[in-house]
Amino acid sequence: MKYGVFSDIHGNLEALEAVLKDMEKEGCEKYWCLGDLVGYGANPNECIEKIRAIADETVLGNHDSASVGLEDTAHFNRYAREAVEWTSGHILPYNRDWLRKLPYTAMVDGILLVHASPAEPRSWRYMNYISDMLKGFQALEGRMAFIGHSHQPMILINRGEEFFSINSEEYRVEEGIRCIVNVGSVGQPRDNIPDASYVIWEPEIRTVRLKRVGYDVATAQKKIREAGLPEILAARLETGN
Ligand code: ZN
Repeated sequence: MKYGVFSDIHGNLEALEAVLKDMEKEGCEKYWCLGDLVGYGANPNECIEKIRAIADETVLGNHDSASVGLEDTAHFNRYAREAVEWTSGHILPYNRDWLRKLPYTAMVDGILLVHASPAEPRSWRYMNYISDMLKGFQALEGRMAFIGHSHQPMILINRGEEFFSINSEEYRVEEGIRCIVNVGSVGQPRDNIPDASYVIWEPEIRTVRLKRVGYDVATAQKKIREAGLPEILAARLETGN
């Protein structure tokens, strides 16, 4: 069985379509979405509808939560807040209702799916520092989790007393380790690579594969500009940061 695991689509329909096509080509049969379907990009409804139709599991992200009024935008920067306000004004009622009902976490076959850190999922912690990594692993009940949020694909490993990260394209999850896989971002990568990011998980061979997929960046940028969203949200898609 191949699982397509993806996150942080942020209303970028061109990137989502490219990733869905690639997953189909790869033979993925199940799909897990780790949140932030909206915010930043110009096609929130189209992205929600595609994901609703295909995903076996979807969890809530911080931009989803703010866009449907579940929390305020105090922790957002100016551009993110403007995008949340724009999204909130454009999202259709039945899509809003669907987002509002998403869970913060899901557990499938002992694997945790969560947007940010396993530690306090509702406070949207990042896992960029060793102290955050420790907290994340402490809170992890099983051996494995898939996360998004930072927009930087990465595999975090806990082996005995050791904690470290790797970003090789393919990783076989060894027996006896615990790992938290950040699948990166479909719609707004921030690791200086503009291609959309997602992960293929094959439990039978215990292998995680980080994938990058090129997409029509120019069209996504044009839509952001035409929508009157902040220019930086269009410009950054080209550089991937
Ligand atoms: Zn995000």
